[in-house]
Amino acid sequence: MFDKKRLKERMNAHAAVSFGRTPEELDTKESHIAFSKAIMEEVVPLWTATKKRQEGKKKACYLSAEFLMGRALGNNLMNLGIDDEAREVLGNLGMNLNDIEEAEEDAGLGNGGLGRLAACFLDSGASLGYPLDGYGIRYEYGIFKQSIIDGAQVEEGDNWLEYGDPWSVRRLDEAVKVTFFDGPVLAVPYDTPVIGYGGKTVNTLRLWKAEAVRPFGFKEFNDEDYEGSVREKNNAETITRVLYPNDCTDRGKLLRLRQQYFFVSASLQDLVAKHIAKGLDLRAFPEHHAIQLNDTHPAVAVPELMRLLTEEHGMDWDEAFDITRRSLAYTNHTILAEALEQWPVRLYRKLLPGIYEIIRKIDRSLQSDLRSMGIRGKAQDRYRIIHGGSVKMAWLSIYGTHSTNGVAELHTDLLKETELRHWYDIYPERFNNKTNGITQRRWLKMSNPELSGLVTELLGTDGWITDLDLLEGLRDHADDEDVLLRLNSIKRMKKVQLAEHIRKVEGIEIDPDSIFDIQIKRLHEYKRQLLNAFHILDLYYRIKEGNGEGIAPRTFIFGAKAAPGYKRAKGIIKYINEIANLVNSDPETKDRLKVVFVTNYRVSYAEKLFPAADISEQISTAGKEASGTGNMKFMLNGAPTIGTLDGANIEIVEEAGEENSFIFGLKVDEIEAMKESYDPHVPYMEIPGLKRVVDSLVDGTFDDGGTGAFRELHDSLLKGASWHRPDNYFILADFASYREAQEAVGKAYKDRLGYAVKCLMNIAGAGKFSSDRTIREYADEIWSLEN
Ligand SMILES: *Cc1c(COP(=O)(O)O)cnc(C)c1O
Repeated sequence: MFDKKRLKERMNAHAAVSFGRTPEELDTKESHIAFSKAIMEEVVPLWTATKKRQEGKKKACYLSAEFLMGRALGNNLMNLGIDDEAREVLGNLGMNLNDIEEAEEDAGLGNGGLGRLAACFLDSGASLGYPLDGYGIRYEYGIFKQSIIDGAQVEEGDNWLEYGDPWSVRRLDEAVKVTFFDGPVLAVPYDTPVIGYGGKTVNTLRLWKAEAVRPFGFKEFNDEDYEGSVREKNNAETITRVLYPNDCTDRGKLLRLRQQYFFVSASLQDLVAKHIAKGLDLRAFPEHHAIQLNDTHPAVAVPELMRLLTEEHGMDWDEAFDITRRSLAYTNHTILAEALEQWPVRLYRKLLPGIYEIIRKIDRSLQSDLRSMGIRGKAQDRYRIIHGGSVKMAWLSIYGTHSTNGVAELHTDLLKETELRHWYDIYPERFNNKTNGITQRRWLKMSNPELSGLVTELLGTDGWITDLDLLEGLRDHADDEDVLLRLNSIKRMKKVQLAEHIRKVEGIEIDPDSIFDIQIKRLHEYKRQLLNAFHILDLYYRIKEGNGEGIAPRTFIFGAKAAPGYKRAKGIIKYINEIANLVNSDPETKDRLKVVFVTNYRVSYAEKLFPAADISEQISTAGKEASGTGNMKFMLNGAPTIGTLDGANIEIVEEAGEENSFIFGLKVDEIEAMKESYDPHVPYMEIPGLKRVVDSLVDGTFDDGGTGAFRELHDSLLKGASWHRPDNYFILADFASYREAQEAVGKAYKDRLGYAVKCLMNIAGAGKFSSDRTIREYADEIWSLEN
């Protein structure tokens, strides 16, 4: 039995110790801190017990530059199984748990899908009882806070630690030094408990903060050099000051390279030191550690582990390389050739001269391996880790690890056939697929308790919380009218709740009886928010012309951050908001079309958006989205997909059924076949209605605030630019097909029961997309890990 009296006492104590007041006197921010600290006290014994139980067992280490964790309180209460008790204790103190949960800042230490994947993996690892710890960077500022001013994105620093972080413990006793060319910095770990569902396993997310070895220069201070006295402190702390807000790579940014080496070196030093402290032989390191690299951001793990084994611990090169390779594995997240990470040699050599020498030696060993396979001379160039003045992080990762995986079936196939084909030819056994997943605990149970309740009732068990394949059982209810009506009424409830939230934070009224058509994801050309925007404008013009009969009322919701330096992406945000102004204010259309760009899209906002969607926009250019995970969150919450055959959409449609999805557009091979001869002027001139929406960018319909952004977008579609072809993402080529699919959505939606069947079949097919399944596959097939 959970001791509510004890929790109340702890709440009182933390209110007093942290704020010098009683709980009743705190505001919601302060209450959140005090209450979370009280919960932390409940967690610590479970955490300690897990560490003890895991002693001596092999563990997996997930190295990631990003962990997009979102809020912790609600999730932790759920996984501890004490949400009702918490609500009661707070209620007795006159406080409301929901208000306190809403006061929590998101831990936004990631950009998008890649960082959120890492967070879902940690939840699944702990919930399945695997020893799986995360290692990353404790950014002082996470992903920027977005506001929209005059339709344009404005960024502000995300000061998420302003009120402190009640969920982390500073472990100064386990600090290590990380050395750069200009000297050492201190890496101080902050540990956060990762509570598995049921509370039996509590793993660790260890995030490193950079601090000065000598934080205060007393001599400089005495000599009245006040800046000099804190220079070392400022320089060191700058390393972990801020998350780079770019979704792809940050080419040539010295500080980014510092961040990468900083957290990788600290993590590996920590693992090696603890291994040795246990009295174990370093030759047994791979039997005790499986280290997964989340993309190439931690690829410097390859030379760093080599450095520790050979230079710090005197092992010979060949044996060290065997151990390194058997310990490490690499996940590739991209098919965009231009996004494969590489660093200028001069930068690498300057910042990390010793590491650079080790990479050179690895490159020489690669050459010798290639020679023994009969690959000589120029034929070696495309494999070389150091080539053309760059260090190729993907090549280093493939050569220096025993496993390379893609993140959806199509993505892995494309890697093997195109981008990484030459590597697949020589190391076919290293390549494998691990289709991404999401945790149903956060993305269904916590964010959609209404639907969770129905699912549990229909299945007669809540076993789906840890075994999502059970959702299959929902198919038996596809012709039960009562179930379908209840499903529709739950969806409506979630739409009303979202509408209320949007009214509060955006000041916009939306109609819960309209179709909620939602596209939420980072703003990127390949994700094609512009295609969605063109379609909305086409609907608008059709209604204005009197050709809009049959168009069902729709609310189009967008949420997206654009990288601050990505001008074209920012232009698209402005364009969407210009369309919103036009459509929302026109008396002829405002009851039929509504466009909302929600500000500051992040995990906590996502939790309100996914459950309220009627249709999931997954419209990337085929071949460009590695997997996607937003698509899975929509599916799990009963929203059919309108999408291209890209990334995990293919597997989603396989599970949900084509008849319950709206697939359109060019396929990968069709794009491949036409791209040389593609002329976007053909669809532009020939597809009815297309020219007028594209031309809205330049004909004075909209105002880009004098930036020239809209003209530039127009040019990118019809003229191209030196770095890419006109309509590089085939927006005009796919427009007609997209419009047809959207028409089919509108028609299908009118049959409310028929549409509910589609929603139900999507939920029923979502079992495969649990990150529990993904983590089991990593554990069995890459990590040899037991729970
Ligand atoms: C799931 C998620 C993403 C990834 O969305 P995609 O559509 O797969 O790109 C990005 N940001 C947040 C906040 C998410 O929750």
